[in-house]
Amino acid sequence: MNSSSYGDSSPIVAHATAIAESALAIIRTSGQGSIELVSRCFSPSKALLHSPGNTLVHGWIRDAEGNRIDEVIASVFRSPHSYTGEDGVDITCHGGIATVRSIMDLLLQGGFRSALPGEFTFRAFMNGKIDLTRAESVMELVEAKTDIARSHAVRRLSGALEQEIRQIRDLLVSALAATELFLDYSEDDGVSHIVAEEALAAGAPELDEEAAGILPDRESVEEARGRLERLGRSYRLEKLYQDGATVVIAGRPNAGKSRLFNRILKEERSIVTDVPGTTRDWIEAWISVQGIPLRLIDTAGLREAEDPVERIGVERSRSVLREADAILYVVDGERGIAEEDRAFLAGGGEPEGPPLVPVWNKADRRPAEENLLPVSAATGAGVTEAMDRIAALLESPGGAAEPRGLGAMTDKGSLGIASERQKRLIDQALQAVRETLDMASHGLPLDLIAPTLREAVDSLGEITGEVSTADILERMFSRFCVGK
Ligand code: GDP
Repeated sequence: MNSSSYGDSSPIVAHATAIAESALAIIRTSGQGSIELVSRCFSPSKALLHSPGNTLVHGWIRDAEGNRIDEVIASVFRSPHSYTGEDGVDITCHGGIATVRSIMDLLLQGGFRSALPGEFTFRAFMNGKIDLTRAESVMELVEAKTDIARSHAVRRLSGALEQEIRQIRDLLVSALAATELFLDYSEDDGVSHIVAEEALAAGAPELDEEAAGILPDRESVEEARGRLERLGRSYRLEKLYQDGATVVIAGRPNAGKSRLFNRILKEERSIVTDVPGTTRDWIEAWISVQGIPLRLIDTAGLREAEDPVERIGVERSRSVLREADAILYVVDGERGIAEEDRAFLAGGGEPEGPPLVPVWNKADRRPAEENLLPVSAATGAGVTEAMDRIAALLESPGGAAEPRGLGAMTDKGSLGIASERQKRLIDQALQAVRETLDMASHGLPLDLIAPTLREAVDSLGEITGEVSTADILERMFSRFCVGK
C-alpha cells in the first residue's frame, strides 16, 4: 500500500452522491484537521469551527474572494463518533454538476485530497469501527437491486455475519487450545494459555499420553464444520440475489416473444427502467422476480434476417444464449409444437445447459398440449407462474438438474455470505476443518493435526480482518466506489 494513499489520516474529500442534476448532493470529508479546513471556506466560519460533534450548521460556502458558491448544511462529526472514526464534515449542498464541482475544487485547493475508492470505509475498518464483513456489506448495500439483496446486506452490516464467524472461530480456538495442551507449545505461540485452561475447565480431556490421536473437544470442531458448510452453501443464493441472472426468451419467429417480453415487464416489478433499453442488438430489461434481479432478454430482433431453416439450429451457439442462466422457451401454441421446437427442447436436456422453462403461448387461442405451461402474452395468463418457475429453478442447486427440495436448505431468510473473498476463506477453513477431523479419525498424532486446525482459525480471522495484510485490504477496498 502506498503511504501517501490508503493508510494515512490526511484530510480527504469525495462526492458521495452522483454528479447529476438533483435536488441535493452530499460532499463528504474526513481526516485530521478537516473541520478547520472546511471552516475556512464556510461562513459563518467560527460557528462551524467550534461546533460540537453530531450537529448541523447552516451557512454558505465561499471562495477566497468571498463570493458565495452555495447555501449548504454542514454536518459536523468529531472523532471518534463518526463513520470513519475521524473528524469530518458532510456538506449537503444543492445538487447539480456546477455546484458540486465548484465546492469540490475549493476543498481540493484548500488542503484536501481526493479520496480513493472505499477510503472512508477503509478508515472505518482501520479505526476499529467495523470489521471486514461489515465493510463489504456497505458495498453490497449500495449495489443491492432488490429488497432481498438489501435486507441480507443490512443484516451483515449490523454485524450478524461477523458474529457468526467469530463464534465459529471461537469453537475452533477452544479445540486448538485444548489440543495444544497436549503439546509442548512455547509461550509466544499466539493462542492464549488462559483460553487453553478455560477449554480444559470446560471439559477438554486431561493431558494424557494415551490420548494422542484423539482430538480434544472434537464436538466443537464438528459443530464448526456444520456451520461452515451452511455458510458455504449460502453463497450461491446470496450471489444470485446480489448479481441476478440472465433470462433469455427464445423460440421460433412469431411465437410471441416480443409480446411476451412486454407483458412480463408489465406483470413483474421493473428494476431499472420501465422502458426496455436497446443498448445492444437485442432488447433487454431488468426485473425483480421473487427477489431475484433478472436481466430479461428478448432475442426476437436477432434472427429476422436469417435463413429460417437455420434459425433454431444456430440458436444454442449464439452468444446471447450462451450468456443465459435460464431460457424461457416460447412455443407458438396457435401453430402447435414444430420440429424446431422439439429439437430445441430435446437439447435442453444437456446437463451443462441452462435450465429451460418451455411455455405454450397464445393459450387464449388454443389450449396447451403436452403438459406445457399455458401462457398468454395477450391476456397475461400464466406469465407470473412461468417467471416463478424460472426463479425456482435458479434458486435450486444445480438448476433444473436437482430436485427443488435442496434449495430449501439455504432459505431466503437465513444468514449468508455474499463476497467471493468470504467464500474462498470459508472454503479454506472448511477444508482445514475436514482434514483435521479426518486426521483425528485416522489416529494421527496431535502435533500433526494442530497446524491444520490453526489454518482454519487463521482463515476465519482473515474474513473479519483480525488477520489481514495491506495487500488484501488494498485489493478489497479498491473495488469500492469513491465517496464510500
Ligand atoms: P416474435 O416474433 O416471437 O417476437 O412474436 P411477436 O411477439 O411479434 O408476436 C407474433 C404475433 O403473435 C403478433 O401478431 C402478436 O400479437 C401475436 N401474439 C403474441 N402472443 C400472443 C398471445 O398470447 N395471444 C394471441 N392471441 N396473440 C399473440
